[in-house]
Amino acid sequence: MKDTREIAVPSKTKEILMKHGFTMKKSLGQNFLTDPNILRKIVTAAQIDKQTNVIEVGPGIGALTQHLAEKANQVLAFEIDNRLIPILADTLEDYPNVQIQNQDILTADLVQVTSEKFEEKLPIKVVANLPYYITTPIMMYFLESNLEIAEMVVMMQREVADRISAKPGTKAYGSLSIAVQYYMEATVAFIVPKTVFVPQPNVDSAILKLTRRKQPAVEVTNETEFFQLIKAAFELRRKTLWNNLLHHYGKNETNKKWLQESLQSATIDPSRRGETLSLEEFASLSNAMEKLRP
Ligand code: SAM
Repeated sequence: MKDTREIAVPSKTKEILMKHGFTMKKSLGQNFLTDPNILRKIVTAAQIDKQTNVIEVGPGIGALTQHLAEKANQVLAFEIDNRLIPILADTLEDYPNVQIQNQDILTADLVQVTSEKFEEKLPIKVVANLPYYITTPIMMYFLESNLEIAEMVVMMQREVADRISAKPGTKAYGSLSIAVQYYMEATVAFIVPKTVFVPQPNVDSAILKLTRRKQPAVEVTNETEFFQLIKAAFELRRKTLWNNLLHHYGKNETNKKWLQESLQSATIDPSRRGETLSLEEFASLSNAMEKLRP
């Protein structure tokens, strides 16, 4: 009789791992989800239907992939570990709408691969239980790619999810919050206890939901300058904005005058700290700096 248990059922996960003699690699962030209810909640949060194509990062043995395949039109899953490829061929054999790409996600030409692999041009969502050792690089890779992503529903360490969705003036707010919130609206959908993973990670996780804004949150005249300013403002965490700006842009008299005038024009007190500035304030400072550049 056919085994109809979901991959994520703990006894089934164990059997798959045993059958293939698979041992997890900590260095690849391999913590597999073994709770079908959490998977259902992730897929519900992502609002996937047959008019959606999905990109998954790190399918593992296919626990989440299976749920995605049932709801989505097509699923394209990037898996770096070649030991998992034959296992996925086995566990996902009933899902012809899944394609596995044996590749490091950070080397993928996302626009090209998706146009090759997805048969229909439908909205693309990224849904994944991310490998935690490279959460931030993966998030930035997607955001800075030219791929049009409608939504991302991604599991990550709770602390990183809090940082990404943080509001100005809070401890968690920093350059990552701004970089992401510039493009996307970010909310923590729900918290996931560490007990539902094999092996258990050291920290709890959170599902972060990111919805692309129709246009960036604020208007900036030069995006490269804007992102540089944000980096500069948080370089030395405990210093004032003024000290950080001098540290980053240089202390000579011309620069000092330029920075002073820009802050004045944007009506920002130089003695404030970077973490108190809103996205709008960063944008007006960046625009003033661009306009008054010596
Ligand atoms: N999706 C599965 C689940 O929820 O049970 C596994 C998630 S596990 C946290 C992360 C997965 O990402 C692992 O399968 C790992 O091999 C894979 N991975 C790690 N680094 C990767 C990379 N750079 N590109 C693609 N996959 C990667």
